[in-house]
Amino acid sequence: MELVHGPATVRNTWLELPAGTGFGLANLPYGVFSTPGTPPRTGIAVGDDVLDLAAATGDDVHATGSLNAFLARGPAAWRELRAQLTEWLTDDRYRARVEPHLLPRDGVTMHLPVEVADYVDFYSSRHHAENLGRILRPGSPPLLPNWEHLPVGYHGRAGTVRVSGTPVVRPAGQRPGTPPTFGPTERLDVEAEIGFVVGTPSELGTPVPLGDLAEHVFGVCVVNDWSARDVQAWEYAPLGPFLGKSFLTSVSPWVVPLAALEAARVPAPARDVTLLPYLDDREHPWGLDLTLELRLNGQLVSCPPFADMYWTPAQQLAHLTANGAALRTGDLFASGTVSGPRHDQRGSLVELSEGGTRPLTLADGTTRTFLEDGDEVTVSATAPGTDGGRISLGEVTGRVVAHPIREE
Ligand code: MN
Repeated sequence: MELVHGPATVRNTWLELPAGTGFGLANLPYGVFSTPGTPPRTGIAVGDDVLDLAAATGDDVHATGSLNAFLARGPAAWRELRAQLTEWLTDDRYRARVEPHLLPRDGVTMHLPVEVADYVDFYSSRHHAENLGRILRPGSPPLLPNWEHLPVGYHGRAGTVRVSGTPVVRPAGQRPGTPPTFGPTERLDVEAEIGFVVGTPSELGTPVPLGDLAEHVFGVCVVNDWSARDVQAWEYAPLGPFLGKSFLTSVSPWVVPLAALEAARVPAPARDVTLLPYLDDREHPWGLDLTLELRLNGQLVSCPPFADMYWTPAQQLAHLTANGAALRTGDLFASGTVSGPRHDQRGSLVELSEGGTRPLTLADGTTRTFLEDGDEVTVSATAPGTDGGRISLGEVTGRVVAHPIREE
């Protein structure tokens, strides 16, 4: 047997990683962290630790308190750093240099990883769209005629995208009725989603073809698109979601590079109609076999499968730039609620409770239609990794806080 030497083939891994960690060398997600008395800076999650990238590299781009400046460098720089990190963490020669910059992750505070530029939320799960159509427009066809032809979406509020752990203050708004009333939402809901973070900008007037996803999108995070269903149902016609959505959107603190999801790529589901050429993805399948988990007060309520999504992130990116709209570094586009065909794969409470008509019974015997004050919701996700194990996309969590103003 001939031995081939070189950093790509000889691995003297000095790291001791916890068994079954979702944050092994196949993952290496980016986040922004701080420790008491130190400024926010970029880190990489490795096992139960965070690698202080600002200190380990000496590169000021990692000391800015957001990932944006690094993301703006583009895919060649992303690939180069990922290769370098892999070498540092596997080759004994780098141990003395790297190990002092590993900090226990349970001792750091995580911050919003990206300064969010523009925020778009799609509606790309056929099961979710059909469930919602059936619940919100009973008696009508559940899907509107456009749904199979384009990824339906809306522009959201970038400034209210916050990091996991941000309290969810129950919003007030106009609730339907005769006449309508103003007060705290009585139908506070969650939406389990995956978010895609744009690194490389694009030129105004130049659409991004769906084959260019990896040239522009740096990575993915987990998203909870908190929703006030009563406010939403009353306001959304004819222009779509507004205040029922914009009070808060929570994201997980770790952005997993697209490069870590190579083993998760799967074909998209079969489509019933012929897609227009700019959305024809037969040459560029970007289905992703991610598994989400939705927990309410620590109890598992559903496991939405992302592989079932009708529209892929590549098609979403192509569609949102099809009119020439430009991308900016830090743009975030989310998939829309991820729901599968089974009841225990639904990614929102409005679906799980059939519009509030059939309360959900949790493992501890408590029941819910929508969220109560004090409830804590966590959405997490995992994916197959390139090393044969599973990688974690981390989690996004939030606890509901009572509305501060007493109802009139
Ligand atoms: Mn949503």
